[in-house]
Amino acid sequence: MTNPLSSTKILIVAEHDRGHLKLATLAAVCCAQQVCQATGGAFEILVLGEQVADVVSSLAPYGAAVVLKADHSSLLNPVADQYAQVISKVVKDRGATMVAAAASTFSKDVLPRAAALVDAGMLGDVVSVTPDGDDFTFERVMFAGNVIATVKLDGPLKVLTVRSSAFSVPTKVDAASPVIDVSVDSSSQSGLTTFVSREEKPSGRPDATEARIVVSGGRALKNSEDFERLVGGLADKLGAAVGSSRALVDSGITSNTLQIGQTGKVVAPDLYIGLGISGAIQHLAGMKDSKVIVAVNQDSDAPIFEIADYGLVADVYQVVPELIGKLGQK
Ligand SMILES: Cc1cc2nc3c(=O)[nH]c(=O)nc-3n(C[C@H](O)[C@H](O)[C@H](O)COP(=O)(O)OP(=O)(O)OC[C@H]3O[C@@H](n4cnc5c(N)ncnc54)[C@H](O)[C@@H]3O)c2cc1C
Repeated sequence: MTNPLSSTKILIVAEHDRGHLKLATLAAVCCAQQVCQATGGAFEILVLGEQVADVVSSLAPYGAAVVLKADHSSLLNPVADQYAQVISKVVKDRGATMVAAAASTFSKDVLPRAAALVDAGMLGDVVSVTPDGDDFTFERVMFAGNVIATVKLDGPLKVLTVRSSAFSVPTKVDAASPVIDVSVDSSSQSGLTTFVSREEKPSGRPDATEARIVVSGGRALKNSEDFERLVGGLADKLGAAVGSSRALVDSGITSNTLQIGQTGKVVAPDLYIGLGISGAIQHLAGMKDSKVIVAVNQDSDAPIFEIADYGLVADVYQVVPELIGKLGQK
């Protein structure tokens, strides 16, 4: 008997930063592989941007029916209105029944607009997709990770973002997916939003959402020099990314691009080191899926010790320089 969901056609929207594939996209590909394995459906991957050939080829070995390349100068910067227009057209043209991307700031900006254009319901932060008769049941994270909701989405087309920590690396296949060029009609775009500029402070450090090790600092760090010396110094010894609690962002000590948590980045590295962070639920929401958690806090009752695998009750101003010194001797 054929599976009632065998006509499932998933469109994965890839995310990249000026030609550098965001690894979280692979979690969405893994989700698509799992759904297609369970249903007999197929998935396609859409890459938008300008000069995206490298991103397209890096996504070729994962068994997508096709990789769709929307390569156009008007897509150089990810202006959400423009991207959503192209995505909605591709969804209609390709007859997608599900659209998925990694849960990220990019997706939060782009996917709800695309969902609205194709009149589809949307779920964010999905951690599992289960075939259920002729429909799907989804699990998604709510309330800073304290509740897992089991939900259904009405309608034939479903749009979702998936949590990368819930899906692993997708399997590779022998044959490369064929590539199809998508024509982009920039004159049909609304033009209501235009790209002005992009400001960034190059740190030379990896992005916290992609790094294997993240060193984060909290309110214990009194100023940005101390943060750079202790948190940045330890991170550099370990080849790690740097993160921050919101307390430091709010006080202007760190940039909000470093914030980990409910309203910041969600990370799941192999090792997370929290220095002088209390462990408020809004912070835990962004890092509790890390494989090994190490906490340094001078208060032995700090809530972060409840989820830490290794805890050190100590003053960060004392132990972190010692640790950096010891790592330096190696
Ligand atoms: C809607 C909402 C969303 C939020 N989103 C986020 C979010 O995304 N991310 C986030 O982080 N927070 C978020 N927050 C804020 C969150 O509730 C906490 O206020 C914040 O996480 C606290 O940061 P902290 O642990 O650095 O500071 P504190 O809670 O002040 O903790 C500082 C810790 O450092 C320890 N300490 C002090 N000095 C030293 C020292 N010398 N050595 C060792 N330890 C020391 C203290 O014992 C204490 O445990 C959000 C809050 C709300 C309401």
